[in-house]
Amino acid sequence: MDINSDEKSVVVIGAGIVGLSVALKLHSEGYKITIIDRNEPMEGCSAGNAGFLSESNIFPPATKDILLKLPGMLISKQGPLIISPTYLNRMLPWTLKAAATLNKNKFDKIVDAFSSLITRSQTALHQLSEISGSRHFITSEGGLVCFITEEAFQARIAKIPLWREKGISVRVMDAQETREMEPDLTENVVGSLFFGNSGRCSNPQGLGLSYFSYLIENGVKFIRDKINNIQSDNNNNWIVDGELANYTASNVICCAGYHSETLLSKFKIKRNVVSERGYHLMLPDSGVNLNRPIVFGEPYFAATPMEHGLRLAGTAEFASPDLPANYGRATMLKDLAKKYLPHLNTDNAVPWMGIRPTLPDGLPAIGEISGHRGLFYAYGHGHNGLMTSAITAECVASLIGRRESPVDLQPFSITRFS
Ligand SMILES: Cc1cc2nc3c(=O)[nH]c(=O)nc-3n(C[C@H](O)[C@H](O)[C@H](O)COP(=O)(O)OP(=O)(O)OC[C@H]3O[C@@H](n4cnc5c(N)ncnc54)[C@H](O)[C@@H]3O)c2cc1C
Repeated sequence: MDINSDEKSVVVIGAGIVGLSVALKLHSEGYKITIIDRNEPMEGCSAGNAGFLSESNIFPPATKDILLKLPGMLISKQGPLIISPTYLNRMLPWTLKAAATLNKNKFDKIVDAFSSLITRSQTALHQLSEISGSRHFITSEGGLVCFITEEAFQARIAKIPLWREKGISVRVMDAQETREMEPDLTENVVGSLFFGNSGRCSNPQGLGLSYFSYLIENGVKFIRDKINNIQSDNNNNWIVDGELANYTASNVICCAGYHSETLLSKFKIKRNVVSERGYHLMLPDSGVNLNRPIVFGEPYFAATPMEHGLRLAGTAEFASPDLPANYGRATMLKDLAKKYLPHLNTDNAVPWMGIRPTLPDGLPAIGEISGHRGLFYAYGHGHNGLMTSAITAECVASLIGRRESPVDLQPFSITRFS
């Protein structure tokens, strides 16, 4: 099927929040877009995230402490972070690359790159969501990270100079100030960090679906097909081979989340991404009233007030994407959350699992495949894919438009792991 082979034709593979954001941005710049997904839009990882637009996430995932605990994570079934023994062959090379980020020089560069993306993310999100009339899903009440032990609180306070150096607003609040801000928190709270420029999305799936509806109403094609191959026709066009048909366009953008590297492997992109499965528990009638997203510091997971209730979300389970979901990892959040929210009602809780596409340094991969003009990628957004979706779209638009990117994209090239 010859979709459109003029130079403004684009096939976007993947209708998660990254692919739809890229499609929306490029459509606003006059490109002729076709979106292809093997499922309906917004059914992958993007459907059920915590909706937290967090400015605090500027650090790579590996820490000395986590690496020392790795053997225990292979045995544990209940910890906040576990590794399936059957996934060890994929985790070993990933862990070696993740451990390399402990090197001070590398660490500093990653934090710089993260900050350059994160600090521009919300403005980009506001602007992009305006295009489709979806701005109402996004609010900016700030975000709280709260603690019930002094030790964990002080450990986090130690990072404040680094956040501030990168232009991120953070305020230390004692127990009283924290409870004044969020009266439903336990009296055992010892304090919190308030990130004044963080925000939230009240319905992450609704946001993506509203982008999608706008695009369809404005002439964008959606094709439901599983893509198995991308090849050049040696005539400045790309052919995307689906199970139902082949599609031709002059630009292809691979936004297939965890599955992107399968499609890109023939272009010498190695396997860098792992499946970091995360869970949420939706509480339709939580009985508590939170004014903003809150991260509970021990263990690390979030509670976000949403349109349809309170969403508890977090935990990391490194495991094959094909293994059945282990919903015990979602329901365990009930008891953990009650330590912070003693009056929480967890009746009728609904669990969900999604596959975070996570790269060893935590940064996404955004770029054009070297030597293959017109073939772009945007995947690997790990814990920050909603927050960084719109700025990613701006970066892709600058690449395809051959103009300067809003952030230096060199640290985001997938060749960084070669
Ligand atoms: C529990 C949890 C909480 C989270 N909380 C937050 C948060 O608070 N804030 C935040 O910013 N981020 C958060 N995230 C991360 C965020 O959800 C992800 O980074 C983001 O959804 C990734 O988006 P994506 O579009 O790359 O992937 P996806 O949403 O998975 O989309 C990829 C799409 O590609 C399609 N696809 C794959 N292969 C093919 C193929 N061969 N052919 C056709 N289509 C294909 C899939 O069907 C899918 O629709 C959280 C994640 C989880 C799991």
